[in-house]
Amino acid sequence: MIEDNYRQRGLRNNLVKKLRLKGILDEEVLAAIGKVPRHAFFDDALLSHAYEDKAFPIGEGQTISQPYTVAFQTEKLRIRPSDKVLEIGTGSGYQAAILVEMGAKVYTIEFQKKLYERTKEFLPSLGYKPYFFFGDGSKGILSKAPFDKIIVTAGAPVIPTALIEQLAEGGIMIIPVGDREKQMMLKITKRNGKITQEEFDNFAFVPLLGEQGWGGK
Ligand code: SAH
Repeated sequence: MIEDNYRQRGLRNNLVKKLRLKGILDEEVLAAIGKVPRHAFFDDALLSHAYEDKAFPIGEGQTISQPYTVAFQTEKLRIRPSDKVLEIGTGSGYQAAILVEMGAKVYTIEFQKKLYERTKEFLPSLGYKPYFFFGDGSKGILSKAPFDKIIVTAGAPVIPTALIEQLAEGGIMIIPVGDREKQMMLKITKRNGKITQEEFDNFAFVPLLGEQGWGGK
């Protein structure tokens, strides 16, 4: 078991306050951030940074998303308990933990074998048990579709058509789309088979690789 003492809980409460001031309103998102022990996702050397509102390296050249970004994307999804959610880019597992904490049924897919293996081992040790998949998430997970919500946590060049197809009727997808340096956050909603798109601020994610991403692996 990892230690979660009053000091860490205090730092976490401060982070929640900061996110509130930055405009995050959804109380359930804030409550989840107040509960998931973010420091458990950090190496000892970086522990003091766990509750700063910043992204950090997690090895294999990848990052754990900034708390504000996690909160922003999660808020836009309007998560309801028992929602079936697909996450592209498991990474550290922090975002998946937030979704599980909110009661969602989470399917998360990662393209880097080492990260997939590491997080699949680690996250359940904190009590968070999404379904883990290894592979190219730009194609979604056809065998598990449709999904009520889809969250893409890597920057895409375009909206992958496979993900639109795998979104349930009434579903919401949140995805950063742009070039390799910066991406605009898009919220895609499917109603009566039709797609509507809302645009939000710019963010900077690592690139979405794979067939319907930037290619490569
Ligand atoms: N959600 C993560 C942060 C992800 S960083 C967290 O909470 O920590 C983006 C992740 O997307 C990286 O781990 C990267 O390897 C992964 N990725 C990039 N392209 C992918 C693809 N096509 N399918 C699945 N994962 C991908």
